[in-house]
Amino acid sequence: MAEAPEAAWQRDTSVLVIAAHPDDEAIGAGRLLADHVGPVRCVTLTAGERCHGDHADLDDVARKRLREWAEALSVLGVTRVETRRWPDGDLAGHEGEATEVVAALAAEADVVLAPWRHDPHPDHEAAGRVGAAAAQTAGVPLWGYLVWTPYWFPAAEITRRGATLRVYPTSERAGRLRTEAIARHRSQIEPQHPAVRPVVPPELVDRHECQMLVQEPDEQNA
Ligand SMILES: [Zn+2]
Repeated sequence: MAEAPEAAWQRDTSVLVIAAHPDDEAIGAGRLLADHVGPVRCVTLTAGERCHGDHADLDDVARKRLREWAEALSVLGVTRVETRRWPDGDLAGHEGEATEVVAALAAEADVVLAPWRHDPHPDHEAAGRVGAAAAQTAGVPLWGYLVWTPYWFPAAEITRRGATLRVYPTSERAGRLRTEAIARHRSQIEPQHPAVRPVVPPELVDRHECQMLVQEPDEQNA
């Protein structure tokens, strides 16, 4: 893995972080966000209301998840941006609208963070494409963060696909704050039923041993 990206991360850099679901940024970028000196804003493109299946009360799940998101962001010192949101599981069907909203926010940022566009979840892939299009429109650099990738395949697979993988050094304190932020997502880390695994298994959280960032070859502009 290459060394940390520096140019885009000077003090007082304004960061916009995009999530597909309310816990993505804590899992995949929590250390970086906790350590960052400068304004960080976060937007989630869905409320993650389908995480317990369609039989659940979707409005109730959405409310709960957005409450957990607000709590987790305050642990990380991140400002939440309230925007329109799109259906969990079908972000790809609304990319154009989402890109317009995110591009307007990206225009006020120095760097955009979004889920890596090949992170193995359809909404994460869509959020990655939205982030790339919005960053390009706004003329700011984009970095991808990983959510499910370390759970499903080894880091070597990322570089095999032509992307650059970097380790971004963070403090021990940032690691603790990330853990604390993820703990606020109770609906994701606690089993909803004794016989069912939690939505976010502990192995997923643990496989993020450090803060990783990814950049696609056509995004190497930071
Ligand atoms: Zn997600």
